[in-house]
Amino acid sequence: MALAHVLGVPRIGPNRELKFAQESFWRGEIDEASLKAVASGIRQANWQRQHAAGLDFVTVGDFAFYDQMLNHIALLGCAPARFGFGDKISLSEYFQLARGNAACHAMEMTKWFDTNYHYLVPELKHDTQFSLSTEWLFEEVAEAQTAGFNAKPVLIGPLTFLYLAKEKIADFNRLDLLDRLLPVYGKILARLKAQGVEWVQIDEPILALDLSADWRTAFERAYHQLNASGVKLMLASYFGPLRENLLVAMKLPVAGVHVDCVRGGDELAHVIDWLPITKVLSAGVINGRNIWKTDLAAVYERFEGLHQRLGDRLWLAPSCSLLHVPVGLVGETRIDPELKNWLAFADEKIVALAILKTAFNVGRQVVAAELADYERALAARRASRRVHDAAVGERLAALTATHDTRNQPFTVRQAAQRGRFRLPPFPTTTIGSFPQTTEIRSARARFKKGEISEAEYTVAMQREIQYAVEKQETLGLDVLVHGEAERNDMVEYFGEQLQGYAFSQNGWVQSYGSRCVKPPIIYGDVSRPQPMTVGWTRYAQSLTGKPMKGMLTGPVTMLQWSFVRDDQSRATTALQIALAIRDEVVDLEAAGIGIIQIDEPAYREGLPLRKTDWPAYLDWASRAFRISASGVADTTQIHTHMCYSEFNDILPAIAAMDADVITIETSRSDMELLHGFGEFNYPNEIGPGVYDIHSPRVPSEPEMTRLLEKATQVIAPENLWVNPDCGLKTRGWSETEAALSNMVAAAQALRQKHEFTA
Ligand code: GLN
Ligand code: ZN
Repeated sequence: MALAHVLGVPRIGPNRELKFAQESFWRGEIDEASLKAVASGIRQANWQRQHAAGLDFVTVGDFAFYDQMLNHIALLGCAPARFGFGDKISLSEYFQLARGNAACHAMEMTKWFDTNYHYLVPELKHDTQFSLSTEWLFEEVAEAQTAGFNAKPVLIGPLTFLYLAKEKIADFNRLDLLDRLLPVYGKILARLKAQGVEWVQIDEPILALDLSADWRTAFERAYHQLNASGVKLMLASYFGPLRENLLVAMKLPVAGVHVDCVRGGDELAHVIDWLPITKVLSAGVINGRNIWKTDLAAVYERFEGLHQRLGDRLWLAPSCSLLHVPVGLVGETRIDPELKNWLAFADEKIVALAILKTAFNVGRQVVAAELADYERALAARRASRRVHDAAVGERLAALTATHDTRNQPFTVRQAAQRGRFRLPPFPTTTIGSFPQTTEIRSARARFKKGEISEAEYTVAMQREIQYAVEKQETLGLDVLVHGEAERNDMVEYFGEQLQGYAFSQNGWVQSYGSRCVKPPIIYGDVSRPQPMTVGWTRYAQSLTGKPMKGMLTGPVTMLQWSFVRDDQSRATTALQIALAIRDEVVDLEAAGIGIIQIDEPAYREGLPLRKTDWPAYLDWASRAFRISASGVADTTQIHTHMCYSEFNDILPAIAAMDADVITIETSRSDMELLHGFGEFNYPNEIGPGVYDIHSPRVPSEPEMTRLLEKATQVIAPENLWVNPDCGLKTRGWSETEAALSNMVAAAQALRQKHEFTA
């Protein structure tokens, strides 16, 4: 009898109940008891769903008021000392760690592996102490048990916890804290055992990363110690194959191992070879990272033999926690029914798991109707004309080297562009968006609801564009932008106009804390039926004699911030999007737009988890960008923009994009991020951000002049641009004007100092 379980489920609630309760609590509108009641309701409903589907456990401990790593910081009593909290933090203190308070800045956040979820980074020092602190996990276990569920708590394993933490002072190795941490994990496991828990899921997703030998060997030591607790441990790895960590994982003294059979499918035979006869194998057979229905019949056939051999030592599961997919399809009334029938969000994945379990345990024929439904849906998707567009395929097949290279090398283009635009040295520009005021938002919302006509909406947006252009003229900026008033989101705006993209109404996924995102769904071959930005950009250009920069989102970012197809490679989808963007670039050029920016803020986050997989990714990612950018004449200047990432280890790939100008975020690192570009001798022009756009604070002219001076030490002054770190859409106009005015003054100061003539 195969068992079935999930590694975790979304905790935001079917209609983002947690978000709204959190935010009301933060505003002081509801008290802690009401917030906790909402949380408890979400947990109970989640457990009930798992139980009703016939899963063998309900997962407990996947709930968090803000973040699962922060829950562990609370559980392990290691809140940063700088906050001055006691061992056992309160819920209010928990939120202060996440959001900061008057005296302390918030803990840092970073991306959870290659997902769009962000966790709070534990801050460790050589003297950090751990102790069993908050009781929340034990209370939730009791809550589930009281409600009659078979609770399987989940913990983030000690090695993953330490690995994802950061050393606040670099005078020690955080792995040295393991011996101090393990006894606390021991106590937690003992407590859970005392509560009558049989299995504990212990997540060690770092097993899917490149680990150095010291981390790899620490696993054995750690799990020998944890094994003493007497509770059965299900060691979970996910997000990729185990590769050289496979033996380490398989030999650990734990009762079961979960492996990702979607991303790590090729190693399954190897995993089985090394599975000791006493160990349970939890097979992650349903993709927890996408929103497509699984081919259940194929899974059944693939695992049938293994089930016969393992019996109840085989558990079925999604590949990873379902945290990364939306809650359920129930509320989706507007999505096209044909497409909807191809989709599976978290709720539907749980149902699929239950169908599989029945097929294995009771017999395939018992669920023949369900399996046939799935097969029909998948067959329809495979054959659908909405998915496959022969013209797109032909264009892709016809791509040659001429499509991904500009006509002339950069130096030739640079001379041609200098002749054309005659910009001053240290030209000033912005990253694209200007403040998204309430009037802009409400006009957009009213247009979407049909309350104002397209003509009225156009007039309203043109007014905003005109306002932004006038402001930029007055400020004396050199290269202007139209301000992106008509855009809600840089991916959604384009996705809505592209063939092959669909949008859910309620497909929210937690990004961090109360913030959720609703990624578009790429379901079919992508193409651009008609120009997307030409009208607005042409209008903006008509208002000024200065160059108006066209503003587009690049293929990698369009891909990275969407749910993607599982029936073709990411690379292929990226190339399709690249061709659609290329069409837009060419049309902008034909409309007289001489400078076009193609934003790629997600370029770095697309990197695979393993370094050996990087070159292949960077190769197609940079090619996709070049395809989007290379349809234009030498005199057309292509910009790109990236932000908030470590660039140094991918500089060759950034150079390979061959954008004439790249603008990057650098102010928060005091230009440190720029050093890599200097050392690498980055050949093209660069605009290192001179001020942080995340704060309403207005930086002074000398402050920005100093940063620019710093930049001139690393980059040839004639290749430097002057711009903020990123778009200004979250700012107000007053601070934006003040900051940009100082920025223009800083550029002028630099021009004088460097004795260039404007
Ligand atoms: N052009 C976009 C803007 O200015 C870029 C946003 C981003 O980098 N994430 O808002
Ligand atoms: Zn940015």
